[in-house]
Amino acid sequence: MASSGVRNGVGPRMSAKPDRQGFSATPKTAAGKQRLSSAAGGAYRRTSSGPLPSRAASDGVSSRVRVAVRLRPRNAEELAADADFGDCVELQPELKRLKLRKNNWELETYEFDEVLTEFSSQKRVYEVVAKPVVESVMEGYNGTVMAYGQTGTGKTFTLGRLGEEDTAARGIMVRAMEDILADITPGTDSVSVSYLQLYMEMIQDLLDPVNDNIAIVEDPRTGDVSLPGATVVEVRDQKSFVDLLRVGEAHRVAANTKLNTESSRSHAILMVNVRRSVKGRTEMDVSISGENGHSSSMMGSLRPPIVRKSKLVVVDLAGSERIDKSGSEGHTLEEAKSINLSLSALGKCINALAESSPHVPVRDSKLTRLLKDSFGGTARTSLVVTIGPSPRHRGETTSTIMFGQRAMKVENMVKLKEEFDYKSLCRRLDIELDKLIAENERQKKYFDDEVERIRADAQRRIAEAERECKITLENEKMKYHQEYLDSIRIMEEKWKVHQQSPKKQNKEAESTSNNTGEVHNLLQNEKMLRQSAEDEASDLKNQISHWKKLEATATAEVVKLRKMLDAEASQKEKLEEEIDVLRSQLLQMSMEADETRRSLDKGDGPGKIFPGLDSLVSQTRGSQPREQSNGPKQPIAKLFEQVGLKKILSLLESEEPDVRVHAVKVVANLAAEEANQEKIVEAGGLTSLLTLLRSSEDETIRRVAAGAIANLAMNETNQDLIMDQGGVTLLSMTASDAEDPQTLRMVAGAIANLCGNDKLQTRLRGEGGIKALLGMVRCGHPDVLAQVARGIANFAKCESRAATQGNKVGKSLLIDDGSLPWIVKNANNEAAPIRRHIELALCHLAQHEVNSKDIINEGALWELVRISRDCSREDIRKLAYRTVTSSPTLQAEIRRLGIKL
Ligand code: ADP
Ligand code: MG
Repeated sequence: MASSGVRNGVGPRMSAKPDRQGFSATPKTAAGKQRLSSAAGGAYRRTSSGPLPSRAASDGVSSRVRVAVRLRPRNAEELAADADFGDCVELQPELKRLKLRKNNWELETYEFDEVLTEFSSQKRVYEVVAKPVVESVMEGYNGTVMAYGQTGTGKTFTLGRLGEEDTAARGIMVRAMEDILADITPGTDSVSVSYLQLYMEMIQDLLDPVNDNIAIVEDPRTGDVSLPGATVVEVRDQKSFVDLLRVGEAHRVAANTKLNTESSRSHAILMVNVRRSVKGRTEMDVSISGENGHSSSMMGSLRPPIVRKSKLVVVDLAGSERIDKSGSEGHTLEEAKSINLSLSALGKCINALAESSPHVPVRDSKLTRLLKDSFGGTARTSLVVTIGPSPRHRGETTSTIMFGQRAMKVENMVKLKEEFDYKSLCRRLDIELDKLIAENERQKKYFDDEVERIRADAQRRIAEAERECKITLENEKMKYHQEYLDSIRIMEEKWKVHQQSPKKQNKEAESTSNNTGEVHNLLQNEKMLRQSAEDEASDLKNQISHWKKLEATATAEVVKLRKMLDAEASQKEKLEEEIDVLRSQLLQMSMEADETRRSLDKGDGPGKIFPGLDSLVSQTRGSQPREQSNGPKQPIAKLFEQVGLKKILSLLESEEPDVRVHAVKVVANLAAEEANQEKIVEAGGLTSLLTLLRSSEDETIRRVAAGAIANLAMNETNQDLIMDQGGVTLLSMTASDAEDPQTLRMVAGAIANLCGNDKLQTRLRGEGGIKALLGMVRCGHPDVLAQVARGIANFAKCESRAATQGNKVGKSLLIDDGSLPWIVKNANNEAAPIRRHIELALCHLAQHEVNSKDIINEGALWELVRISRDCSREDIRKLAYRTVTSSPTLQAEIRRLGIKL
């Protein structure tokens, strides 16, 4: 496929790897997401995007499903049948990358949490995939380990090997139990297991096979899933566990023989329940410190122990290959659907979770109900996807890899914690409010008492002062009145005496004048007394006004206190309103949760619960096709259906250069799909592409068109058509004109495909195909050289096939066209794809005796000898050795030179 096509949305799936922590026991949120884009032929273009927004869980325990990929070594059959072909995958374990070969010149790169090569030991696989999960199960979390992949790729090998003869071969189940038993405390802790099989939506007890329709029970309160009908066996030692696994496996085989099924169609599920008592903490401690932040020593005597229950689920999934819906295994269509149901439901759930879709169809199958906690739930989950190396199963391998990639986007553990947080917040506020209310009441009472006291005090003092004042005034008044009366009386008496004795008149007159002085004095005295009484009265008046002032201050204080009380009351009202809002939010949330639970229990789907969300989902579905097995191809396929091929092809001749470029990219993308190729050729697409190659001035158009032709040239019928329409001449012209390595790579790829057709050899060479191929090495780009080498290997292989079929053939046309010097020069090229093709080409050329002389003269014999000794690929090494030893001419030369093979 043309590289520009790749960048226009139909290219390989991008891989995403959120972090490089590996399978760590310490949970981390995903961060630092990197996108890797791969173009054809292993040339990468990198673009970087910002870090993935991390979803923080309230208690910090958020963990992504971690995914490892494991490659099975070639088996005997593959070693024999695929000897000439490379593996369909290439692993780079140190970069945690896997490259998937899409076809001869295209690789796609994917990143995983762990990449396990065919040489990885069982111990290492356990340690990176399962050990962190087992460790967190021992800490009280639930955990899941699962294997997914095509039948025969090593799921059971990875999970279920007992390893009784060879300890190193033990699988994950046995090793996990060993670690669990080593960690528990006998007496207080316990471990029990159930072993089940899920087939055609029926759960069968592998420890008691008569029990073959076990129900799944969900706790409506916690949502926990359990299988009360399954046999539970307490495990005390490793031997009894291995015995249980053996019994279970035997029952599985027997049950499948009886049902006439293969075990590859059923899921095997091992459930390990761990119950541990936690020392040093009690339920009382938890509840006390949880409620108000400090513990009470009074409660010390009430100390019930805490037990932590956790569960490890190990699932050996059914083979992921599609089963033939026509019923080739003797199943009816209904049975076939039912067999696939659980696995396809799992895929749908993972898609929904990976896309953060609001609806996850957990209830669609028994498997997804059982694994509810493992994806998007609260369990720690590791998935190992297993693949084989054979290019014949490229389709299944691709879909397994895509499943793993999607699972990597699933995050576990969020919802539960949020719910808890709201409740505790509300509880805290309730406590706070109660405290405030009590305090408020207490203060109010205190203020009222104080005001009352001050008022009473002031009134009492005023009354006292008034009374005192009155008494004093009265007394003074009485005193002066008495004095006044006394002095009047004295004056009257004196007056009488004066009247009675006139003799004494003079004397008395004298004394009268004396008396007058006395009276004067008295009056003076009286005046002073009155003055002091008045002073005292004004003093008292002052005191009274002082008391009045005091009373006014007290009243002001009372007013102030009233105001404070009012402020307190309004504050309280506000808090109560806030609490009401929170309560109603909580109520709404719990109603929603109840309703969700109820309707899930009833199984009537989400439509009625979240009508809004549901319509959103359907909108999203409308714009973004689901069920995508190979994601990005869908929009193009849709375009194809909607616009129609004829219309797209007619756009290739548009006047608008932009339209032409887009149209050719669309056609190139379509041509990459084998299913479209025939339709494109029938509709005249090949002719249009060749015309573009001939007439277009635009480099991009020529590059993309050449890529599309290269894809069409994969098919034999199209190869004939390309030849008939002068395609080789056009490709040769492009080869000699173009400068851009990517254009040259496309052209070389197209010619290399034509080189693999036995019937076209002479014509291809006659029209300059080989010369054009050799001419392109001038560019020196390794991707171009790899395509040239592939073309040469294809051509040489056809020639040697013709020779072995007894056709009379002369000297190799490749040699005639002068390819040998380049072959010799690059036979030891450091790029593996170039080297491997050339090694094969040399072997094929040397198999034909007429070529021997040239091989010797050009120095190719040395390369063949080197290949037969040093090649890292055993099959090629052997082929070179056989070739050299079976040719009399080469043998003679070897003897002459005294070379030892
Ligand atoms: P699955 O369970 O996926 O169908 P199996 O575990 O039964 O596949 O493996 C199929 C065959 O391949 C078995 O013979 C198994 O021994 C072999 N095999 C699988 N994985 C490996 C491996 N990593 N190394 C060696 N042999 C393997
Ligand atoms: Mg198996």
